[in-house]
Amino acid sequence: SKENGRNCFSFYFEELKTDSNRVLALDGELRKAIENREFTLAFQPKICVETQNIIGLEALVRWKSEKLGFVSPAEFIEYAEESGLIIPLSEIIFELACEGYHKLVAAGYPKVPIAINVSSIHFQQQSFLESVQTILERNNTSAQNFEIEVTERTVMNTAQETISKLVKLKQLGFKLSIDDFGTGYSSLSYLVRFPLDVLKIDRSFIQHICSLDDKQAIVDAIIQMAHRLQIKVVAEGVENVQQVELLRSMGCDFIQGYYYSKPLPMDELIDFIHFWEVEHQG
Ligand code: C2E
Ligand code: CA
Ligand code: CA
Ligand code: CA
Repeated sequence: SKENGRNCFSFYFEELKTDSNRVLALDGELRKAIENREFTLAFQPKICVETQNIIGLEALVRWKSEKLGFVSPAEFIEYAEESGLIIPLSEIIFELACEGYHKLVAAGYPKVPIAINVSSIHFQQQSFLESVQTILERNNTSAQNFEIEVTERTVMNTAQETISKLVKLKQLGFKLSIDDFGTGYSSLSYLVRFPLDVLKIDRSFIQHICSLDDKQAIVDAIIQMAHRLQIKVVAEGVENVQQVELLRSMGCDFIQGYYYSKPLPMDELIDFIHFWEVEHQG
């Protein structure tokens, strides 16, 4: 029966999560993968609601392990954070993003910033700014071509150090976004202290936006307040045209989600951009 099926599934899932063999395998495989640089990036476009232009891309790490198969970043990033492997992994991700940027330029596409997700562990490192600058220089590119996505949780740390790091990133030329907004219980009045460009409303608010009035009210309020503070808004996880239309009516600036495109490998992304530009005539 359906009931049995569900029990079987959740049992299987729990078993995977707590299986210490898997954790051990993950540890060994991740170390090897970092040594051998077995990662790639997928890029997801962000679309401007008003102009339909692609205004940016988000880089999302992908790992296909020989032994474990495809492992979701939700799983291995968390593990990498706990084990400290996130530092070398983050550096690989930055390098790959720089490569991605050069490929995009070589393909002749308009320059849009590539957003990189920065783990709070990496962000909090004393050497964070220096390591990022070194990678940019080594790859002959500059901060203007990139955006940094930090989660609301990362910046909720009130330390003056956090604020000054964000200010320095901004001075270097990075755009700054707050990721997963709405999940970390911070208020916009609190975020005003940070030099933010963009706020990304978490998918959990967008998911039921058409059927749940309270989600709709929250998203509407976030957009209005962000705009009063000169901050742009991205809606994450948009999957259908009803959501697009509702978000448009609320004045949301940018949309990212499967409705437009899944995250794509660079080659496929270049095809997508080409198709998109033909459809929308530049
Ligand atoms: P995130 O930063 O919030 O990224 C958005 C996630 O939502 C991505 O999952 C993306 O593939 C997925 N997504 C995008 N549009 C839709 C949609 O319309 N519907 C649904 N259901 N999902 C959508 P992904 O790539 O599996 O990444 C999961 C999380 O892993 C990310 O959440 C981020 O927290 C972390 N992550 C991924 N790549 C990196 C990375 O390079 N560095 C770091 N530090 N974390 C990363
Ligand atoms: Ca993100
Ligand atoms: Ca997010
Ligand atoms: Ca998320």
